[in-house]
Amino acid sequence: MRSAIEAARHPVLTTHINADGDGAGSEVALALYMERQGVKPAIVNPTPFPETFKFLLQHLTPWSCKAEEGRRALERADLIVVLDTSEPSRLGDVYPATRGRRIAVIDHHPSTPQSIGDPAIRDASACATGELIYDLIAKPDAPNASVSRPEAEALYVAIVTDTGSFRFANTTSRTHEICANLLRAGVDPQEMYRQLYGQVTDERLELLRRALSSLERDPEWPLASITLRRQDFQESRAASADLEGIVEHARQLRGVEIAALFRELPDKSTKVSLRSNGEADVAAIAREHGGGGHTKAAGVHIKGPLEASRAEVLASARLALRKKGLGPTPPPNGDPEAARGP
Ligand code: AMP
Ligand code: MN
Ligand code: MN
Repeated sequence: MRSAIEAARHPVLTTHINADGDGAGSEVALALYMERQGVKPAIVNPTPFPETFKFLLQHLTPWSCKAEEGRRALERADLIVVLDTSEPSRLGDVYPATRGRRIAVIDHHPSTPQSIGDPAIRDASACATGELIYDLIAKPDAPNASVSRPEAEALYVAIVTDTGSFRFANTTSRTHEICANLLRAGVDPQEMYRQLYGQVTDERLELLRRALSSLERDPEWPLASITLRRQDFQESRAASADLEGIVEHARQLRGVEIAALFRELPDKSTKVSLRSNGEADVAAIAREHGGGGHTKAAGVHIKGPLEASRAEVLASARLALRKKGLGPTPPPNGDPEAARGP
């Protein structure tokens, strides 16, 4: 990977649609590292670089692949480095521009038959793609390892966001060891928290209000879901990035095994986010409908309308719970013995 990166004259870095902190942070850290190696990469994404993560950018200017500059960078690219996904379908309008190009991938999703990338660093045991970038650029035993403060901040953001601030099952002792080194490189956790979570906008607050009032527990199964319609986005003026973390409000309910968030997209298709609290494999549910992801955090984009897609995914989720022997949940005030069932 290092030699592919160092040999590139016109590299482009990209990530999945609706970049998250891991995608955006990994792009910034790798771009700053590459500049230190004497190559000047362009960051070109299928969707706009989220406002929340712009504080990481320093002098870098990310482009959308629809902008003239983005198109030109993709046209002259001799290496495209794909971060935090290996799936063509997750690359949106960037994917057609990768045809005939050398594509390198650095990703922590389990590989699938659709996975692209050669060379590829793929490790599903990494908590974030940022962990793999850290190994590439900053691991103390790597050749010429060092990490600047802006690189460390970008890696810290990648790791904090993908581990749900060190709460999710992907958090390991290594996650904390890496973050300790990032703090030594100058990261200020309080400042990172303020940037990421301490500046909730009125739009996000209004979207959250609507999300909470739509939150529903399944009457029978340990399943909870949030449903947001186009109208909710129009009236709250919220953007996709404002959805970040909202599914956790369904996941954190007592007894819930699977949480889902359904979002009606502007073209009337449906975006689904799935989370598991334990045994249930939500990636398998997402795959049934054409999506994918991790065992405990997965997603799918369904062409069909909201109500029908929601019913189909919830039916799959109930079936997955049944197969694992999870639920149905006893009635809240009923006789627990009678409700336990077979
Ligand atoms: P999200 O619910 O959008 O935060 O996504 C959670 C995880 O699910 C992501 O990290 C991806 O691994 C995966 N994922 C989300 N959407 C899709 C999709 N349309 N196809 C495949 N995987 C997805
Ligand atoms: Mn991601
Ligand atoms: Mn990730």
